[in-house]
Amino acid sequence: MEILASPFADITLQRLPLAKRDPLRAWDAADEYLLMHLDQEDTQARRILVINDQFGALSISLSVGMARTDNQQPEIVSWGDSKLSELAIAHNSAQNSVDYPIHCIASTDRPQGEFDLVIIKVPKVLGLLEHQLITLRDVVQEPTTIIAAGMAKHIHSSTLKTFERCIGKTTTSLAVKKARLIFSHFDQALEPASPYPLVYQEPTLDVELTNHANVFSKEKLDIGARFFIEHFGKLPAADHVIDLGCGNGVLSLMASQHQPKAHFHLIDESYMAIASARSNLAQSELTDEQQHFYNSDCLSQYTGPKADLILCNPPFHQQHTVGDQIAWRMFQQSAKNLTERGELWVVANRHLAYHHKLKRLFKHCRTVVGNNKFVILQAGQHSPN
Ligand code: SAM
Repeated sequence: MEILASPFADITLQRLPLAKRDPLRAWDAADEYLLMHLDQEDTQARRILVINDQFGALSISLSVGMARTDNQQPEIVSWGDSKLSELAIAHNSAQNSVDYPIHCIASTDRPQGEFDLVIIKVPKVLGLLEHQLITLRDVVQEPTTIIAAGMAKHIHSSTLKTFERCIGKTTTSLAVKKARLIFSHFDQALEPASPYPLVYQEPTLDVELTNHANVFSKEKLDIGARFFIEHFGKLPAADHVIDLGCGNGVLSLMASQHQPKAHFHLIDESYMAIASARSNLAQSELTDEQQHFYNSDCLSQYTGPKADLILCNPPFHQQHTVGDQIAWRMFQQSAKNLTERGELWVVANRHLAYHHKLKRLFKHCRTVVGNNKFVILQAGQHSPN
């Protein structure tokens, strides 16, 4: 197990999902830089808001370290858009016997009260940062210290402009181990307004899609999803359909037109995705009883029945880490959550060659249709008729 050593504490920290020989660490040089800086500044903050702490590097180090050095434990609130991060903070808190629980709140909720220290890991999606900074304005004052951290390659001029526009005067540190800090001073006079959720009309589908700030393809329909939807007439009939990694719910919305009696179970680890999907499914013909939503890491927190059909347009990154680990877990867990004759339908970039992976898990896998960029794959334990 890897140890994150900082001036606050030495803590064991694991990435979620747990993997046997995970070559990746659960923190980066930006976490280390920020912790070092906070120690040098001798922070005496009583209420700390930690934003986008992926596996707990910041919140757990502070919680463990400040409990040792201080009589009065600060209240630490972790705010982010990831169920997986919430699970990771709980897991790593337990590993480190954190005495004072870190209070996690979803991105779709607003932090309450006033904070005297706000620390932010710069997220992958600029729109999420923008929305978070604007929402943050309600819980900070001019003396509040606001510091962000990120790897230099992820901090662009647009990142700094977003801080300037949403918070106030912004400066950056020198780079240390390719990481940088961003210091932003709250300017009460600014009045930025959040453009989120974004709403766009999708004329080819005759629907209007609502998208919160961190939702995949929030400004226009994904071309893979479009290709998938064009072939929904070929889907098998189903009583229960799982939409795995549902994003804004567009796949369920369109599939429900072919399967108006089915129950749809929409799953995503992003709170903003689930909130968007809920609004979008409201325009379907499905009754409330036919719509089910789960904030879940793949199918790990899914509590619904086995499905006759699983639809999946898998993700190809976890924050800044690109790879097919999440897709592979989605396929593995799908195999366990299908009825005997159930089928998994996947749309993916042709070059990812997912049929090799699916053939390891399912007796049958065939390409339903493909073009030069995408394929739609159908996998199950029974040969389709
Ligand atoms: N189904 C939508 C579409 O076709 O437009 C979104 C597809 S997008 C390529 C993949 C989705 O998987 C994202 O919404 C992302 O939040 C979600 N996702 C990523 N990791 C996940 C995980 N561990 N568990 C559940 N969903 C996840």
